[in-house]
Amino acid sequence: MLRNQGTKDQVIDPKAIENERLKREEEEILRSLQATAVPLVSVKDRAKDIVYTQSMRSSWRPPSHIRNRSDEDNRKLREELHILVTGENIPPPITSFKDMKLPPTVIDYLKKKGIKKPTPIQIQGLPVAFSGRDMIGIAFTGSGKTLVFTLPMVMFALEAEKKLPLVSGEGPIGLIICPSRELARQTYDGVVAISEALASGGAPKLRTMLCMGGISIRDQEPELRKGVHMIVATPGRLLDMLNKKKINLISCIYLGLDEADRLIDLGFEEEIRGVMDSFTTQRQTLLFSATMPKKIQTFARSALVLPVEVNVGRAGAANLDVIQEVEYVKQEAKIVYLLECLQKTAPPTLIFCENKKDVDDIYEYLLLKQVDAVALHGDKTQEERDIAIKQFKDGKKDVLVATDVASKGLDFPDIQHVINFDMPKEIENYIHRIGRTGRCGKTGVATTFINKNQTEAVLLDLKYLLMESKQKVPEVLLEIPDEQQQVYEEGQECDFCGGRGHRVANCTKLKLQSKQTAPRRDALKD
Ligand code: AMP
Repeated sequence: MLRNQGTKDQVIDPKAIENERLKREEEEILRSLQATAVPLVSVKDRAKDIVYTQSMRSSWRPPSHIRNRSDEDNRKLREELHILVTGENIPPPITSFKDMKLPPTVIDYLKKKGIKKPTPIQIQGLPVAFSGRDMIGIAFTGSGKTLVFTLPMVMFALEAEKKLPLVSGEGPIGLIICPSRELARQTYDGVVAISEALASGGAPKLRTMLCMGGISIRDQEPELRKGVHMIVATPGRLLDMLNKKKINLISCIYLGLDEADRLIDLGFEEEIRGVMDSFTTQRQTLLFSATMPKKIQTFARSALVLPVEVNVGRAGAANLDVIQEVEYVKQEAKIVYLLECLQKTAPPTLIFCENKKDVDDIYEYLLLKQVDAVALHGDKTQEERDIAIKQFKDGKKDVLVATDVASKGLDFPDIQHVINFDMPKEIENYIHRIGRTGRCGKTGVATTFINKNQTEAVLLDLKYLLMESKQKVPEVLLEIPDEQQQVYEEGQECDFCGGRGHRVANCTKLKLQSKQTAPRRDALKD
């Protein structure tokens, strides 16, 4: 300890000085990041300096007994459910679908799907969305977030259709953008199912279009001519159709971005900006993600009007009901050990690899060993991908071997075991991958193979994540030299990428991104 010369009694802690220095350095980095981020608003609005100051109007109101609830009671309820909120005039949490005033046909449909009570993100997120408010939803995978942005879109589309039915060429009223084809299809299926449930009760029929690569635009033209109420899209194809004037967003008043951090992170920033440019009036915008590093939040906020942020527990693996096991396995021993690992739980099991070639090799090896497996990666045709997913979802295949394409929000119910054949390069991908199991209150197992091939940076992030999730940290991770530990408080995270094993000043992802001007699109094709 040092003593300050001026004030004799004051003790100066070198750790505190170092911490203060790092804090200032970080603030500087974050300031420069914010300065370079172009707001996510249309060029027209930016050029005309249009700034919306009011949220969208909505005719939806909570029932009076909930409206009359005190702020203190709302606060307690959120606290009990571990719901964190920020924003002005936040709509109250509502713990039953009936009190959310959902039509009986929708309540019945949800019941048939085993959805009887809303999950925390739905309890707070649905009232926010039904009220017309912009929203940032931070919810771990499997929390039921999809319903929060699909259900209000369908209800708003129905309201619009009842007021003034859509005529040829009009629409969409609502748009949802997803980062992968699989996720888009899954979301589309959900939207169609809700619309059909409503129609079965006598409501007007709503038309939804799936807009993504792998589907012939020409085949969709008759549907487009009729006018579509809702579109679920991947960014590339959507922008293409907008540019070709096959669709327009003149009457679009609702935009949902699923896995928003990934959309932007994966290099779809320009496409999203292009889409924003096509809006001609104000819209309600909802951004959802399992992980939402601060950089993306700052960026996203520029596109939102008086947003409400709903965070159900801290985003990330700490919230999952997953037993995370990390094992050191030599590269050449991995494939044989995999077979042993498969015995840990009953199927279904998901195996993730970084490389397409590894997916193919493992798939062939498992077939030789008579394991019922299917494979999924970006080089497969759309038909092959759809078949693989269907067979796995229907329980006809026990194991799915996949690249990260399959980790982005895909919903495979009851996955028992996720095996990371390799540790992903970024901790966010690890969270997405293990989020395939332990969903909606069920416990799952995640096994991750690590070895010398991983960078120390990602292994340190993993170490802190395991600590935060109260999991066993293997000796091999504890042995990694960790200078940050001196000044790093447990549980803090990098302000740029959300990794827990480093601070923003040492963020390899930030360094990489600063070097790369070209977007990283390798993981996805439209
Ligand atoms: P998501 O996080 O939106 O991908 O949802 C994950 C899974 O949870 C899906 O299979 C949903 O059908 C299911 N689910 C959504 N909401 C609920 C709920 N309130 N109760 C039970 N399951 C739900």
